[in-house]
Amino acid sequence: MNLKDHIREVPDYPKPGILFYDISTLLAHAEAWNETIERLAVIIEKEKPDVLAGIESRGFLLAAPLAMRLGMGFMMIRKKGKLPGKTISYTYDLEYGTDTIEIQEGAVKPGQRVIMLDDLLATGGTMEAAIALMQQAGADVKRVACIIELTFLKGRDKLSNIPVTSLIQYD
Ligand code: IMP
Repeated sequence: MNLKDHIREVPDYPKPGILFYDISTLLAHAEAWNETIERLAVIIEKEKPDVLAGIESRGFLLAAPLAMRLGMGFMMIRKKGKLPGKTISYTYDLEYGTDTIEIQEGAVKPGQRVIMLDDLLATGGTMEAAIALMQQAGADVKRVACIIELTFLKGRDKLSNIPVTSLIQYD
């Protein structure tokens, strides 16, 4: 099955000149979505992770079914202020201003093997920050997995040699 056929390309979203890759059509197609999860599960299982980490919000769509499929837990990496209790946070620079992401204290234990999940890798800025946060908490980040990679943006070069798996590439 060609998963790319199930990605909708939306021009000028969220801003004029940006081509947005929409996974809603993939989510809506039972067979294609099942295959997406299955293909990622095979790759992730080999890393023998202790926990999966999903990046808000479309990363959760991957982390939840993969965690069930692989019989393990998953954790949420969220925007600041969304998680109750004590948190660990990481602030990073954006084009204009900064952003802060958080995890709950104790969600990952030092030395645990973690796989990072998001729907799409573009410039790599989001994933770079998420990895830095996990490493700050002592996690051993083994791999990044996503559905789509915009290879021409070279996001993986920002991820300090952590291997990247993507099912669909645009170059
Ligand atoms: P990056 O930080 O530039 O790598 O952007 C990746 C983040 O932005 C991910 O969390 C994606 O969900 C989101 N993103 C950027 N472009 C797209 C797109 O075309 N489709 C869906 N999500 C996108």
